[in-house]
Amino acid sequence: MVKKQITKICDVCGTQFVTNRPHQVSCSYECAKIRCRRRQAENRRKNKIENQNRKERQTHTKQLVDDAVEARKLGMSYGKYKEMQYREEMR
Ligand SMILES: [Zn+2]
Repeated sequence: MVKKQITKICDVCGTQFVTNRPHQVSCSYECAKIRCRRRQAENRRKNKIENQNRKERQTHTKQLVDDAVEARKLGMSYGKYKEMQYREEMR
């Protein structure tokens, strides 16, 4: 069986190369390494953003609990408390 040769453009350096592997995207091992490193850096960035989002969510949840505690202290329901807060803000 003759393997099909595919002409491709390297994802990293833009050089044209021939391969018989359809999934190959870089011309050489060196370029593959660079590509891998780039992807790792990108993933790190993504993870960082995700962690930040997670932190924000946690802060939000904490705020919710604080409000609920505050509402109980004032002897009103959480809904009432929120309504009051809302009115205060509108003033
Ligand atoms: Zn290359």
